[in-house]
Amino acid sequence: MKIYNTLTRTKQDLKPIKEGEISMYVCGPTVYNLIHIGNARPMIIFDTFRRYLERKGYKVNYVSNFTDVDDKIIKAANEEGVDCSVITERYIGECKKDMEGMNVRPATVHPKATEEIDGMIDMIKTLIEKGHAYVAADGTVYYRTGSFKEYGKLSHKNLDDLQSGGRALLVTGEDQKEDPMDFVLWKPKKEGEPFWESPWCQGRPGWHIECSVMSKRYLGDTIDIHAGGEDLIFPHHENEIAQSECCNGVPFAHYWLHNAFLNIDNHKMSKSLGNFFTVRQIEEHYELQVLRLFMLSAHYRSPLNFSHDLMESAKSALERIRNAVDNLSFLAQNAKTESMTEDEKAKAEELKKFTERFDEAMDDDINTADALSVIFDLVRFANSEVNGESSKEFDLAVKDEILMLGDILGMQFERKAEVLDADIEALIEERQAARKAKNFARADEIRDQLAGMGITLLDTREGVKWKRN
Ligand code: AMP
Ligand code: ZN
Repeated sequence: MKIYNTLTRTKQDLKPIKEGEISMYVCGPTVYNLIHIGNARPMIIFDTFRRYLERKGYKVNYVSNFTDVDDKIIKAANEEGVDCSVITERYIGECKKDMEGMNVRPATVHPKATEEIDGMIDMIKTLIEKGHAYVAADGTVYYRTGSFKEYGKLSHKNLDDLQSGGRALLVTGEDQKEDPMDFVLWKPKKEGEPFWESPWCQGRPGWHIECSVMSKRYLGDTIDIHAGGEDLIFPHHENEIAQSECCNGVPFAHYWLHNAFLNIDNHKMSKSLGNFFTVRQIEEHYELQVLRLFMLSAHYRSPLNFSHDLMESAKSALERIRNAVDNLSFLAQNAKTESMTEDEKAKAEELKKFTERFDEAMDDDINTADALSVIFDLVRFANSEVNGESSKEFDLAVKDEILMLGDILGMQFERKAEVLDADIEALIEERQAARKAKNFARADEIRDQLAGMGITLLDTREGVKWKRN
């Protein structure tokens, strides 16, 4: 398999450090808000990559962090008058719900920055000891960028150019820096902010140090793959490399993968620009499998422009595949013969070719767009080669091939069983009874169960009503 490595700017053969295993770190979201569909792009892409690696037989150790200490979190907590942990726990929970809805599997480990402070302090101590960091008069610890000769190697920037550009960018409060390119590892607390004890001052970590520390702790000093959106290349990933390589004395990650942006009207979708849709908003109009198909319909290194039309075409494409699967199930149930004929056996051999083409596409830098077109070809094959005369075995072989390839992409091509109105109403009645009996735990449980079935409850003056999402 070949993957494009931002570090070398070439497609390279994937050669893991340990045979049969892949260690992979994906920078996760800052949790102060519901995630938007731009944040969902790396989640869906790298989850798909992970699934494909597993299908190739690798054991994948997949770590993705939650950044749960940050200016924006503190601001949100102050606005609501609650502790930061109230905000972060709430949005970690919401993020996990969105991931589940998008069929993004939980990581092997989801570390949180606030639970890794000791490791950060240790790494900062080592960097100071080795001369790669220094403590300013107020207790701020800075990374000494000029001490790392390879600084700029990921983003292909030259330190001299950065420094001359950086001088102009120097802002007030940064006059303690030896160099404008130096960045914060630890900073003193401000009034009303969460803080931790450290050898330098009561304070909190800078942003970049958390990923170096979590990656080291859960995956080791050198890992196979580090990934995230392309906005992270500089300075975040560049700084992570500087910290990790100077602390550990070995290369940080062999392959660096970056997804291009999800845009809207050709601008990056982002919280700061306010031009975003949350995954939750999309879910009001579409099943999240449609969003996943939409994301996979473009190569991950190409910008993807979000539009209503593209979502509608993803929706009808999904419908087309599901109809084919439904039809194959129906044919299998009603087949007149069990086993394949010789002619069908020959045709079933052709199914292997679809798998091969699918693998070829995925082996070429995770080309999900081409992999999807193989599935569409397979659906055409199903529609033309399978009919009421086909054997049950052949019907099922074709159906299984569609489901198997879909599953690698995290797509669920088999329609979920229809939820009956009567079942929903029985659950609502039980919930009302539980509430009356003040058994709120059970009432909440039922609400969650219904939510899982795609049912939203609406408390109205005329009583509880419900709708399908
Ligand atoms: P953040 O919470 O902003 O740190 O972002 C979490 C992840 O989402 C990072 O990997 C970002 O690079 C990625 N990301 C944010 N916005 C977009 C976007 N519009 N398109 C693609 N990836 C994005
Ligand atoms: Zn990171």
